[in-house]
This record gives sequence, C-alpha cells and structure tokens, in this order.
Amino acid sequence: QLRLQGKTIFVSAAGQGIGRASAIAMAKQGARVFATDINADAMLQLADEHHERLETCPLDVTNKSEVDRFIADIQPDTVFNCAGFVHHGTILECSDDDWDYAFQLNVQSMYHTIRAALPFMLDRGAGNIINMSSVASSIVGAPNRFIYGTTKAAVIGLTKSVAKDYVAMGIRANCICPGTVDSPSLQQRLHDTGDYDTALKQFIARQPMGRLATVGEIAALVVYLASDESGFTTGQTHIIDGGWAS
Ligand code: NAD
Repeated sequence: QLRLQGKTIFVSAAGQGIGRASAIAMAKQGARVFATDINADAMLQLADEHHERLETCPLDVTNKSEVDRFIADIQPDTVFNCAGFVHHGTILECSDDDWDYAFQLNVQSMYHTIRAALPFMLDRGAGNIINMSSVASSIVGAPNRFIYGTTKAAVIGLTKSVAKDYVAMGIRANCICPGTVDSPSLQQRLHDTGDYDTALKQFIARQPMGRLATVGEIAALVVYLASDESGFTTGQTHIIDGGWAS
C-alpha cells in the first residue's frame, strides 16, 4: 500500500529544490500531484523526466486569479505551499519593494492558495495544508535575514491560525521549519557572496550536525505530513534543522 494513494496534491515552487524533490516523492507514494512553478522550462523538464507520475503546469503563485482558477480546477485535498524567496540584508538594507515582494511570495501566496482550496476541503470534511516556513523565523534570528525571518514567522502565525479555526472540520495545517538545505538557490547565494568556501563553512556551522540538509530529507517530512500517518498533528512547526535550534 502506497502512503499517499488517493490524494490530490497541489505543490508550488516544484521547479527545483525542496518543492521538486517533494513533488516527486509524493507522486512515488501514489498521490496525484499537480506540480507548479513560475519557471515554465523547469516544469517542462520535470514533466519530461516524471510524466508518468505527476502533472505539471506553469503557475505564478503570486497571481491571485491564476491561483483561484487552477485550484478550482484541481480541487486538491492537500496543498503544499513551498514557494519562498530569501532576501539578504538587515532592516537598513531592504527597500519597501523588497519587503512587498517577499511578503507577496512568501506569505500572501499561501493566504490565496489556502483560501481557494478550503471551500472544497470543507465540503469534503477533510483537507491538509503544509506550509514552508524556516527555522529562521520566530524560532531563531539569523544574520542578514530581516525580511526573510519576518515573512517566515508570519507563515507560522498563518498556519496556526488556520489550524485552530478548522481543526474540528477535518482540516489540518502544519508548517515545516528547515535549517540550511542544499538547493539551487542556496548554491546561488553562496556564489553571490564572492567567497564561496567561506560562506559554505559559515552556513554549515549553523547546524551542530556539521552539514547541510539534503532536499530528500525535507521531502521525507513533507510525505509524512501529507500522509494519514501524521493524522494527529496540526498547528505545529516541524523543525528539521540539524540541531540549529536545539
Ligand atoms: P529554490 O529557492 O532553489 O527554488 C525556488 C523555486 O520557486 C524556483 O523553482 C522558482 O522558480 C520558484 N518560484 C519563484 N517565484 C515563484 C512564483 N512567483 N510562483 C511560483 N514559483 C516561484 O528552492 P529551496 O531552496 O528548496 O526553497 C524552497 C522553500 O524552502 C522556500 O520557501 C524557502 O524559503 C524554504 N527554505 C529553504 C531553505 C534552504 O536552505 N534552501 C531553508 C529553509 C526554508
């Protein structure tokens, strides 16, 4: 028996990194996965490699009308909101535009996907929401993560609020709080520092386990939260951080 047989799952930011690994892992467990990303080429590539297992569609998760239409079409019982952007800098190094962009992508997109999916979940009396937060949020402060930490803390508040309001109606909502995960955008951030090796050492040092997480390790938690094995957990921040916040 596959762990996600019979589930219809929406995934945002499935073009690379954690979203991609999770979409593939959930499809392998028998779910009908709708993998979306703003990057149309990445969606074509994913479809090429895994077309027998999942459906792909380009989708800008900050576009409310597109999101409404897509969610109404597929009526998912499970939503994995993975999209998020890391802004680098302190409060004095961010602009209002940086702030608005990060809040739109990291928080408002979740508000819209959940709002679109909830009526269908309530009709069914069952629904499952998984939101991507970070340990760099209300859990720990990380240097130069002013906007990022603020948005990821908001994701925790959003998740707990939805979980509390709908717990008696068969809806679960949890969020995932990873430490540093080796992904394409992390590699880009390391290169952008101009001193890759020093930056890598600093990023690794945040985890007492002395390494970065793999996307597969995060995907395994996503599969667990998407499955009925986690049926008794809601409103929680699932920390997976190599001991950073311990
Ligand atoms: P990534 O940053 O490498 O990839 C992000 C994906 O999001 C890309 O495929 C991109 O095309 C897509 N995207 C960007 N804007 C979009 C939009 N408007 N609509 C739809 N898709 C869009 O992936 P990652 O590093 O695995 O991060 C995934 C999530 O995990 C993010 O929310 C991130 O904040 C969170 N996270 C990452 C780490 C880490 O160290 N990598 C740690 C904690 C949390």
